[in-house]
Amino acid sequence: MSVGKILLYYKFTPIADPEAIKLWQRDLCESLGLRGRILVSRHGINGTVGGDIDACKRYIKKMRDYPGFKGTEFKWSEGSAEDFPRLSVKARQEIVAFGAPEELQVDEGGVIGGGVHLKPRQVNELVESRGDEVVFFDGRNAMEAQIGKFKNAVVPDVTTTHDFIAELESGKYDDLKDRPVVTYCTGGIRCEVLSALMRNRGFKEVYQIDGGIVRYGEEYGNNGLWEGSLYVFDRRMHMDFGIDPAKLGRCVHCQEHTTDFHNCANEETCRKQVLICEDCWAQPHLRYCADCETKVCLA
Ligand SMILES: [Zn+2]
Ligand SMILES: [Zn+2]
Repeated sequence: MSVGKILLYYKFTPIADPEAIKLWQRDLCESLGLRGRILVSRHGINGTVGGDIDACKRYIKKMRDYPGFKGTEFKWSEGSAEDFPRLSVKARQEIVAFGAPEELQVDEGGVIGGGVHLKPRQVNELVESRGDEVVFFDGRNAMEAQIGKFKNAVVPDVTTTHDFIAELESGKYDDLKDRPVVTYCTGGIRCEVLSALMRNRGFKEVYQIDGGIVRYGEEYGNNGLWEGSLYVFDRRMHMDFGIDPAKLGRCVHCQEHTTDFHNCANEETCRKQVLICEDCWAQPHLRYCADCETKVCLA
């Protein structure tokens, strides 16, 4: 029996004809029996695909044959094609939806004007040498930071990446513009864009973590500057980097520790994912976010 795997990757590089790349990718994945999600834009490609291990290897080889995708780093993860409902390949304005397709500039070297890339060890060295002057800036949706974040991180008030530009231009973070700011996100792709948007808005010393939280966590486990669990966008919902992580997540109803995100039961009008502990979730009237629970009780 063959073994399944999942590949995660992204590459910022100029793509003249995203539609053509989309069609090529769809044919390639179909021929290899891969499923997953791939986004293509003028700025590059972002994909998560799963399938037979040999098919994954052939996919990597084909990707590297294309000059623009040479040097793409592929991250291997446990899983298979069955982890995805189907194959979805789309050409969009952006591979990460910040709502700034015209602002983002890329060349063969990647994003132009982004933050300085730091390896996990260099992140710690920066904090050792600069101390409390260093600020961690969460490049994810605020919800994700409820169960884990870097020590003393600033967590912007964003529901989706679309909210970042207004947040950066709100003036709330102007005091950070002269300080060393380390942006971070799950695997690093969001910070490729975010760090460039920040520099364009006057943040003078911006860094990003190579490989994001995932790589930092692999290196330091629970013994570094990362605290708690990592929200992930697959059926696992979250992952830990070692036993006994810091317990940041709190149930919205009873405040007990939990890392269980649920969709609010008010599915028609509420799209919120909220932390609800097992005991509360067992009670149907508590399967709502705090806002919707109030409405349900009043109804
Ligand atoms: Zn609870
Ligand atoms: Zn709700």
